[in-house]
Amino acid sequence: MGDMAAFIEGLPKAELHVHIEGTFEPALMFEIAGRHGIALPYASVADLAAAYEFGNLQEFLDLYYQGMNVLIAEQDFYDLTWAYLQRARAQNVLHAEIFFDPQAHTARGVAFATVLDGISRALDDGRQKLGINSRLIMCFLRDKSAAEAEATLDQALVYTGGRTDRIIGVGLDSAEVGHPPVKFRDVFARARAAGLRAVAHAGEEGPAAYVRQALDELGVERVDHGNRALDDDALVERLAREGIALTMCPLSNLRLQVIGDMRQNPLRALMERGVRVTINSDDPAYFGGYVNENYLAVQEALSLSKAELTAIARTSFAASFLDRAEKDAFIAQVDAYAAAT
Ligand SMILES: [Zn+2]
Repeated sequence: MGDMAAFIEGLPKAELHVHIEGTFEPALMFEIAGRHGIALPYASVADLAAAYEFGNLQEFLDLYYQGMNVLIAEQDFYDLTWAYLQRARAQNVLHAEIFFDPQAHTARGVAFATVLDGISRALDDGRQKLGINSRLIMCFLRDKSAAEAEATLDQALVYTGGRTDRIIGVGLDSAEVGHPPVKFRDVFARARAAGLRAVAHAGEEGPAAYVRQALDELGVERVDHGNRALDDDALVERLAREGIALTMCPLSNLRLQVIGDMRQNPLRALMERGVRVTINSDDPAYFGGYVNENYLAVQEALSLSKAELTAIARTSFAASFLDRAEKDAFIAQVDAYAAAT
């Protein structure tokens, strides 16, 4: 292992942008399909793994939603989450703020509570058995209606009884173009009034204007992706001034052709202009790597220094939704590691 790879492996970090449904590895998908007697249209795990080499966004989404169809029972959601937590912990992720898409399951007739019970039980076990801390962020599918998002928020508030220790916030994901953030202004306002934090995918494929809308209309505290913010100088200055962090996903950007080459990754350009950035895996089973592979890909392409990597890891905790004392404790671990390495 190279010097930088070893440094990244050991660096304590938080992951702030990972979709639990996007961590579904082919072997586990086969296992769960078999459990339910569902025949996948692939002869073997290797065949399915080959299909993960999709060529474009639509092929990815087709595979992504097809994969989810085998998630039916509470144990399925547990196993999916548990597998991610083990991988993340092995990469020295100490805290994860994990997205889930309840509408992708409730639309198939799976109860909201089945999804949440399974994920939550795994998160509790992760905390106790693996020492990995976590929170959940419930995403609305932006290509569905605002009314469906409202109904999903109702289900969440009933489930949590208004407590935010489990679901800490709401987000917005799926196909961006044609589905501007403003469509979800009212449901985000209601979520924030209920004490939930707010994030949204914006400026991945959509324009810089969507990033502005996410800030102004949805009141988001972080922007997921945000690459296209660089098209708008005043917006970049505002992100820096207001301390809005971007959760960037380099390998995802490459696979979905948001960038043509890793050297085009805007991470350093944004850092140099004072914008807070973090490195995350998005849908790691599909995009070629978990969080450390993402750190390493950017490090190699942009020749990031250990000091820059350390700053990004610090930001990953500082921009999390943990409370002040929790953040400080994690950041102290980052600093101790950097000082000793
Ligand atoms: Zn994402």
